[in-house]
Amino acid sequence: MEYISKKRIKLEISGVVQGVGFRPFIYQLALKHFLKGHVLNNGNGVVIEIEGENSQVDIFHSMLEITPPTLSRIDAIISTEIELQNTPSFSILQSNNTNATTMVSPDISMCEDCKEEMNDSINRRYKYPFINCTNCGPRYTIIDSLPYDRKNTSMQNFEMCDACREEYEDPLNRRFHAQPTSCYDCGPKLYISSIPQNFILEDKELLESLVEFIKDGKSVALKGIGGFHLICDATNEKAVEELRLNKNRLTKPFAVMFKDIQSVKESADLSEKDEEVILSKERPIVIVSKKQDTILASSIAPNIDRVGVLLPYTPLHELLLEKLRKPIVATSANLSDEPIIRNEKELFKKLPLVVQDALSNDREILNACDDSVVLNVGKESIVLRLSRGYAPKSFSTNKTTDKKVLALGAHQKSTMSLAFDGHIILSPHIGDLNSLEAFEYFHRTLGTFKRFYDFEPDIIVCDKHPKYETTKWAREYVLEHTNVELIEVQHHYAHALACMAEYDLDEEVLAFCFDGTGYGDDNTLWGGEVLVASPREYERIYNLQKFSLLGGEKAVKEPRRIALSLLFECFTQNEMLNMDNELVNSFSKEEMHNYYLMYKKKLNSPQSSSIGRLFDGVYALSGNLQDLAYEGESGLILEKYAQDFPCGVSYSYTIDNGVIKFKEMLLEILNEKDKNVISAKFINTLVIIILEIAKKHLPLPVILSGGVFQNKILLEKVIENFKENNIRYFIQSQTPINDGGISFGQAYYALNMKNKDNYE
Ligand code: ZN
Ligand code: ZN
Ligand code: FE
Repeated sequence: MEYISKKRIKLEISGVVQGVGFRPFIYQLALKHFLKGHVLNNGNGVVIEIEGENSQVDIFHSMLEITPPTLSRIDAIISTEIELQNTPSFSILQSNNTNATTMVSPDISMCEDCKEEMNDSINRRYKYPFINCTNCGPRYTIIDSLPYDRKNTSMQNFEMCDACREEYEDPLNRRFHAQPTSCYDCGPKLYISSIPQNFILEDKELLESLVEFIKDGKSVALKGIGGFHLICDATNEKAVEELRLNKNRLTKPFAVMFKDIQSVKESADLSEKDEEVILSKERPIVIVSKKQDTILASSIAPNIDRVGVLLPYTPLHELLLEKLRKPIVATSANLSDEPIIRNEKELFKKLPLVVQDALSNDREILNACDDSVVLNVGKESIVLRLSRGYAPKSFSTNKTTDKKVLALGAHQKSTMSLAFDGHIILSPHIGDLNSLEAFEYFHRTLGTFKRFYDFEPDIIVCDKHPKYETTKWAREYVLEHTNVELIEVQHHYAHALACMAEYDLDEEVLAFCFDGTGYGDDNTLWGGEVLVASPREYERIYNLQKFSLLGGEKAVKEPRRIALSLLFECFTQNEMLNMDNELVNSFSKEEMHNYYLMYKKKLNSPQSSSIGRLFDGVYALSGNLQDLAYEGESGLILEKYAQDFPCGVSYSYTIDNGVIKFKEMLLEILNEKDKNVISAKFINTLVIIILEIAKKHLPLPVILSGGVFQNKILLEKVIENFKENNIRYFIQSQTPINDGGISFGQAYYALNMKNKDNYE
């Protein structure tokens, strides 16, 4: 008899490996290679023991690495050979969850298999609006606690019918342990909730009547995965304008959901990368170039040439758009500065004038989650909002400490990060913390993550801004919890750290942190800083010349004030009175004088070196005298102007003793009449400044971080120049480049500080 050599190995796998169809995949792979043993979930991931013919075991191991399940992400596999046990079969064992450090999967859009079943008239889930499987469907938004089992989700109220249970228990079925699986007989029910009363219709009629509402030009609410959307016909100018008016949202662009990629292309020019990201399983909103001539109402994205588009990501969206055959506005249901609304009681309490009808269902959303937003620049994607589909996002790091770190982020676009056991977990987007509701949402998110990971912080990291709610909360927390250490990280350094963290950089870098405003070490508001930084320390080596924000927060809304203050920095009052300029002329002599006093006496006029605010000033100087309706509006409009005048020319500037001065540029702008020329030359000037500084500090690699780099033209041109000049650079692509990435950078700093302590 021929002797066959056999072995048994144990594989311990960590990463996103639970709730993503991992065990059935392993089961099937083991059967295919005639292997015996078992697989189980534990607190750290998945543990497999297999035995069989040597070569089969090896093939199994490599197949696992090469073709893991679509939604999984393997961070590490520890393989050990153990003694043969002559196990008779391969089985899936009960999970043993002790301390759960398993990563929670984000919510994933409907997969192709489910879509096919949904469109199959003889399938028992034909047109079923909650169809899902282990490869798709809700996750984070329905999970209350770990381990990820149905009883710990908001599906616990829906007892599986026999047919569903059979699939759920069959390791060879796509729905094996698909926690949210359900069908017409056992799953959540749709209903239309209306002011003044609820009415429940047959499923078929529900969609019909919703479609009628939308066709009639009404706005309705639709319960999605992470909250309610407000939707209306995106081709109906009157409907969109009415939604704006009722929601009191003047010009901030609305996202549009299209039926399929073909219909997106009728309204937008897509790059290859755009198409790829729009179709990805995460299904984010992608900011793309709007076509001049489209069926979309012009009030969707007034004054700019971009539009945010997305495809249906739930079966319900799919069914609705199939019936409606028109693109819809899909914007988060909320009051401005408040989080996305999760239930219709709140919806009708807060937005009774905006919508009177909502298509809802009885599956509770436990954790709210907005749509993610992505912008593609050439072949790179940058994340403007990390949320549904991507978050919670886990990273593994080799910077470890036995301390648990909680990083609180900034104030706008708030997120939080938790670091423990070699992981950093970045929460979904929470939003601007300007309202009580938003701060409650912050607390709810913190509660969720503490529950998931049985987490109590040993270290809290926050920004240095004394007025950020997160800073205040952190400072108070450590007073009450004296065993908890507080670390405060400068805002722009945290921006740079976020990028270093994403690429696990340990070397010295040259970081361009061009941003709105953040609290600087000298108590002024930074935002145009160049740092030489490592994960442990930094030095500011350049900054934009400082100017006053006349009236503080007011100046952020009124770019005229910024423009005036830029002029005050460079010219005398008399010189200014003699200027014949639209901006200057827009102030009366008296107003001018009052602002001048404000400036001279530094009354409520904090000093700032922010490039974001410089954008506002240039926007006003080019003749835009109205207030801004949303953050970043000036940048988007300047971008549109620059697009209309592509050129290589720029303005003069000087760098004096580490200070980037803008007087020459202002003089030249004042003599320019064409907005398009001003915008193009201004953006070019920034590109040239960045390039000059980067070249001077070679061979340091460059980091670009901060909200200003959401400006596509600027980023595109900088990258182009870096490539031409062989300058090594890093840009975040997995974490938000704006303040949404701050918590991630803060966490990385704490890990590095503690890691250093361990070695000293
Ligand atoms: Zn599926
Ligand atoms: Zn069922
Ligand atoms: Fe920032």
